[in-house]
Amino acid sequence: MTTKETARLVTKAEKLCAQRGARLTPARREVFEILADQSGAIGAYDLLDKLKSAVPNAKPPTIYRALDFLQEQGFVHKITSSNSYVLCSHFDHQHPVQMLICESCGAVQEIQSEGVYDALRKQAEDQGFRVESQTIEAHGICAECA
Ligand SMILES: [Zn+2]
Ligand SMILES: [Zn+2]
Repeated sequence: MTTKETARLVTKAEKLCAQRGARLTPARREVFEILADQSGAIGAYDLLDKLKSAVPNAKPPTIYRALDFLQEQGFVHKITSSNSYVLCSHFDHQHPVQMLICESCGAVQEIQSEGVYDALRKQAEDQGFRVESQTIEAHGICAECA
């Protein structure tokens, strides 16, 4: 099932890939669409199950290669603590990632706080550490579930 919003996101991703000379293959595109249809994060094996309805011979490496590509393009974030994936809500620019993850319904909300980013970077620099990328995962209860 593809909603209007999903179609809009796919078009946006296609445009960015064309600009970058990256190839959004049919499998990558399918995985992107599945993620765009999700309200929360989804694990690789659930993704594979859904992908099989469009690409019956899809195998785990198909998923992992597609996810690697989508992460490289900044379209998708990996949630390490739950080993799942979520579509970036503003994937046209690179940014520090702070995710609010609901323990009850699994919804993932992205926030972008430059303040949090700067504070962490400054403290890291005081330790002589140079931050190259930053992902913060906060677990709790969302407004819907509270
Ligand atoms: Zn993002
Ligand atoms: Zn919730």
